[in-house]
Amino acid sequence: MNKKIKEIVDKALGGGLLTGPELKELLAVDYLSEESFYIQYASRKMSIETTKGKGEIHGQVGLNVGLCPKNCEFCSFAAVNKVFDKPSQCSLEEVIEGCLDFEREGANAVYLMATATYKFEDFLKVGKEVRKALKTDIPLIANVGDFDYEGAKALRESGFTGIYHAIRLGEGVITRIDPKTRMETVKNAHKVGLVIGTCLEPVGPEHTLDELVEKTLITRDMKPGYSGAGRRITIPGSPLEKHGMRNYADMAHILAAVRLAMGYDVVGNCTHEPNLLGP
Ligand code: SF4
Repeated sequence: MNKKIKEIVDKALGGGLLTGPELKELLAVDYLSEESFYIQYASRKMSIETTKGKGEIHGQVGLNVGLCPKNCEFCSFAAVNKVFDKPSQCSLEEVIEGCLDFEREGANAVYLMATATYKFEDFLKVGKEVRKALKTDIPLIANVGDFDYEGAKALRESGFTGIYHAIRLGEGVITRIDPKTRMETVKNAHKVGLVIGTCLEPVGPEHTLDELVEKTLITRDMKPGYSGAGRRITIPGSPLEKHGMRNYADMAHILAAVRLAMGYDVVGNCTHEPNLLGP
């Protein structure tokens, strides 16, 4: 076992906040090594303590599909990726049915997701109706474009408990959104008491260790209810296809390193799409 890696992991387990260079050391470890298994063991130990051993499953209902002009290169809704021929929208009844299904099946939170073309006012209206229809106080989470302080207040008043928001890898370069705008949204959400869920995402082989570290530490600064790591899924024909994809074992390692970098103050460690190896 590499002594330095063990020391970094033990520092995190002992409650120490990892620095950027320390996190970089962890991320640089081969995911099929003894050191990686120690990182994953420690990560799971930390998660068991922060969550008191309880895992959660969150279900998301999409309100519409394509063709989003923001053109984030990793996204299947991006107009540039040509996954959908034409945009379409779910009816309110379909959305409510999807949310009630998740609630009935025991999901721990229900998310509503819309692309950047979906009108914010309409999103609020749907949110209110869904909140009314849900039978329990299951948290309702908004996965929606950027908004100002008034928008944050309106989300709260419409019955949302929190938001999912991330400063994505490549934000501002392979997306048409300024990272500062994303961060402003998070600040607005915090001001009105919306809980933040976030992740290091969408992770692919094209990302340098430095960018993984930078974006992971941004998630920690957001003081989220959960952070974690999500994988980029390759869209055939998209500009990112040439890079290929990370495999699940590799993602489990990254997820574990992120967990240790979050420390005990961040309760949850999320991965999406589901990865059974993830700590
Ligand atoms: S803003 Fe959202 S929906 Fe639009 S392309 Fe980017 S990730 Fe996809």
